[in-house]
Amino acid sequence: MSDRLPGFSTLAVHAGAQPDPTTGARATPIYQTTSFVFNDADHAASLFGLQAFGNIYTRIGNPTNAVLEERVAALEGGTAALAVASGHAAQVVVLQQLMQPGDEFIAARKLYGGSINQFTHAFKSFGWNVVWADPDDIASFERAVTPRTKAIFIESIANPSGSITDIEAISTVARKAGVPLIVDNTLASPYLIRPIDHGADIVVHSLTKFLGGHGNSLGGIIVDAGTFDWSTGGKYPMLSEPRPEYHGIRLQETFGNFAFAIACRVLGLRDLGPALSPFNAFMILTGIETLPLRMQKHCDNAKAVAEFLAGHPAVASVSYAGLASDKYNQLARKYAPKGAGAVFTFGLKGGYDAGVSLVSKLQLFSHLANVGDTRSLVIHPASTTHSQLDDAAKVKSGAGPDVVRLSIGIEDKEDLIADLEQALSA
Ligand SMILES: *Cc1c(COP(=O)(O)O)cnc(C)c1O
Repeated sequence: MSDRLPGFSTLAVHAGAQPDPTTGARATPIYQTTSFVFNDADHAASLFGLQAFGNIYTRIGNPTNAVLEERVAALEGGTAALAVASGHAAQVVVLQQLMQPGDEFIAARKLYGGSINQFTHAFKSFGWNVVWADPDDIASFERAVTPRTKAIFIESIANPSGSITDIEAISTVARKAGVPLIVDNTLASPYLIRPIDHGADIVVHSLTKFLGGHGNSLGGIIVDAGTFDWSTGGKYPMLSEPRPEYHGIRLQETFGNFAFAIACRVLGLRDLGPALSPFNAFMILTGIETLPLRMQKHCDNAKAVAEFLAGHPAVASVSYAGLASDKYNQLARKYAPKGAGAVFTFGLKGGYDAGVSLVSKLQLFSHLANVGDTRSLVIHPASTTHSQLDDAAKVKSGAGPDVVRLSIGIEDKEDLIADLEQALSA
């Protein structure tokens, strides 16, 4: 082998995987087992004491999931990763390592609707307080920082509007505040944007979307950039203080630049329990092998559809950062030069009723609450995913009453445009 570093497409196919040492199987086997036999009593004790790496029980780790973890860590440029049952599980596990009751984290207001719910309601019951900031106004993040701030959370490409977030500017705020920047990279995938290259300390994904890519398996992942010093100021005791359940070891001291991924596994996943099924890990790994091919087609199709909509008389506005006229086009050129993603919104001149009517007339687009499928998808956020928000909050999060969200698939773009044409003229 030469000593050149493998490119992104090579990593998408190979990172983390070896032919199976006992059978020679070339595809990664599904290790459909709950538990693993210890070599002897000493081996068992060292695994439980975190003195050796190895398999114990699938809630804590599994060899199929380990390949997925290594692959996504390689694609994102992180030191280590932890796969979990869903994107939402990833968010809970990350914040559990950082937050004590009464602490705060700052989140961009433009987020996946489910994350807005999780942060506002579920996290409140843990005593974790979210403070909202506007991703288009970097100073609003600065103003939100208090001594209880423990993290900043943003999306690289924001759901539902497809707007691009200035990751570097917000990472500067995080650095100054001495807190980690967490980036939800679900809508971009590492093919379009690698947040760690722009200052992110932790990356989370819903693997359910573009990484898995086929609309068939839920999953989530946490990637540790290995960049954050958890020992400063006693702010992150889960990482810096002795852990009573592991003979008093300190995770940062023991595991260095992958201590956060270890904390998520041995304190988060072990105790909260949202383990990813090895079967889903296999499905998602298979999806990732074609990520570069799919993502480029998703983006090329999305740009063609956005251009068509921008010229249609029934359409009031199109919010797609890949259009030269878009407010986020400069940021898209900087952060996502290969394409501005495949999830975006447009507004209809007919308002709320026109939005509801359009989704019922489309035939090739599926009307459902998901994104990042091979198939093209449509939803009217104001009457579904964002219906729980009041009107002002809907508009602020990019889901006003006239707004329709598309997730463009990998079909022929001419067929997608024809379907939109018939539904808009009906
Ligand atoms: C879907 C989604 C999530 C939640 O992921 P699940 O796998 O559904 O739990 C989080 N963030 C974004 C941007 C998403 O699209």
